[in-house]
Amino acid sequence: MPGLNIPQAAARPASAPAPEAASPVLVGHPGLVVCDECDAVHKRIRLSRGVVARCRRCGALLGRGHVVTPTGQLAFALAALVFLLIGNFAPLVTLDLQGIHKTVTMPHAIWLTAQAGEPITAVLACVTAIVFPAMLVLLRLYVLGSLIRGRVPPGFRFAMRALRFATYWSMVEVFLLSALVSIVRSAGIADLVPGMGLFAYAALTLLLTSTTAAGLHSIWKLGSRLGAG
Ligand SMILES: [Zn+2]
Repeated sequence: MPGLNIPQAAARPASAPAPEAASPVLVGHPGLVVCDECDAVHKRIRLSRGVVARCRRCGALLGRGHVVTPTGQLAFALAALVFLLIGNFAPLVTLDLQGIHKTVTMPHAIWLTAQAGEPITAVLACVTAIVFPAMLVLLRLYVLGSLIRGRVPPGFRFAMRALRFATYWSMVEVFLLSALVSIVRSAGIADLVPGMGLFAYAALTLLLTSTTAAGLHSIWKLGSRLGAG
């Protein structure tokens, strides 16, 4: 690639985790990494655990040294799918108020929010706590399931871009925090008992945080090695 200045990525120990940025490798050049923010081209370097690589031009995150292999990420995604299903079908909370005993699941809670005159809140809760987390999990299963078997899945690049988008908008941790705050604030007014669904969402939050921290870089790299175009 004549005429291009290709610096090595600046690596330093991770002090504060930054949001993961997918850094696509150049097609046909798996040894190079493109900065997602400014398009600067960097030479790929091996990162040890706990080390992050940043763009020399703009400082954006290029990659992070991780011990979670693509196979490990696939296992995390499978576990996340199980907890996502439990979180949506098992009771989220059980309400006891003046003799009324009511069990609420996640979709039911969103429906009740919309019925209570808060349709925007209901839609936001639906997309950030169900739709985008589901997209994130299913796309990871789709991409990793094929790559680990040595095949590049159809629509690999589109799936990776969709995966990056879903990663930005998946906010199960915000939902979990809001639910816990609601339970604490309702103390003394109603007897609100966390259900299996809420615990499943807690586990889902941990798993999605782990998979997001592992980033998309290793998936891009694996796809490039297998000839993704
Ligand atoms: Zn940059």
